[in-house]
Amino acid sequence: MTENPCLYQCPLCRQPLSHEPRSYVCESNHRFDQARQGYVNLLPVQHKKSKLPGDPPDSIDARRAWLTSGGYDPLVERLAQIARDLSPENLLDAGCAEGYYTRKVGADCARYGVDIAKHAVKMSAQSDPAGSYAVASVSNLPIQTGSIGAVMSVFSPIFAEEFARVLVDRGSLIAVVPAQNHLLEFRQSLFDQLNEHSSDKHLEGLRSHFDLVNEERLSFELQLNQERIKDLLSMTPFAWRAAKDKIDQLMSLEYITVQADFSLLRLTKR
Ligand SMILES: [Zn+2]
Repeated sequence: MTENPCLYQCPLCRQPLSHEPRSYVCESNHRFDQARQGYVNLLPVQHKKSKLPGDPPDSIDARRAWLTSGGYDPLVERLAQIARDLSPENLLDAGCAEGYYTRKVGADCARYGVDIAKHAVKMSAQSDPAGSYAVASVSNLPIQTGSIGAVMSVFSPIFAEEFARVLVDRGSLIAVVPAQNHLLEFRQSLFDQLNEHSSDKHLEGLRSHFDLVNEERLSFELQLNQERIKDLLSMTPFAWRAAKDKIDQLMSLEYITVQADFSLLRLTKR
C-alpha cells in the first residue's frame, strides 16, 4: 500500500508539512504528532472554541450505525458514481465525520478527510488506514493551496473561498444539502414551525468562486423501526434542537416512514 502524498500545511504558519515517522513537521519546526490510529490533530489549541468541538460522540456513533446499516446508501452510491465520472486524482471530504462517505466515495483515489470532532476523525482513521485524516476546522483547512482535485461536503458547512483555495484549477466541488422534504415527517412531529430547506442559500455563497455544473434532486423513502428512528434522530441536529418530550414521543414509535430528500450540487472552481 503506497502512502498518500502529504498535502497538509502547518496550521500555525501555513508552510507545507512533511511526514516523518509518527509526526508531521514544518520548516519552522512546528511539530504535530500522529496518533496511534494514524490521524493527526492539526487544530491548534488556540483555535479550539470548546473542549469538545464538533458533533458530540453519541451523535457520531449513531451516524456510524445509521450509515453502515445502509440507511443512506442510495446517496452514497450516487456520490460514488459522480466521483467515478470526475475521476479526480484525490478527494478531500470537508467535514468527514466518521468517514463513511470518504472511504466509499473516495474508494478509487487518494482520499483525505477533515473534521473538527476528534472522536469522529479517530473512527475514520481506524476504519480506513488507506485514507489520511486530520482534526481541523473546515473553515481553515490544513491543506496546501491548489492541491485537491475534488472537495466533497455532505451536510457540512460550506466555505466557498477556503474550498476554492485548496482546489486545483477547474477542480470540482460536490456538495450535498438537505432539500425541501428532507426528514419532513420528523420535522412535522418535532417543530411547530418548519424552516424552509432550500439549496439557493448555499448556491448564493458559492457563486463568487464556483460555476454550477449540475444540480440534481435525490429522494427516497426510509422505513424505520424503533432502532433506526433512534439512530437517525440522534445524528441530526434535531436531537438537541427539539423539545425533549417530542423527541421521546418519536423515539417510542414502533415504526415510521420518512422522506430522505437531498440536493446534490456539482460545481467547478472558476
Ligand atoms: Zn509551522
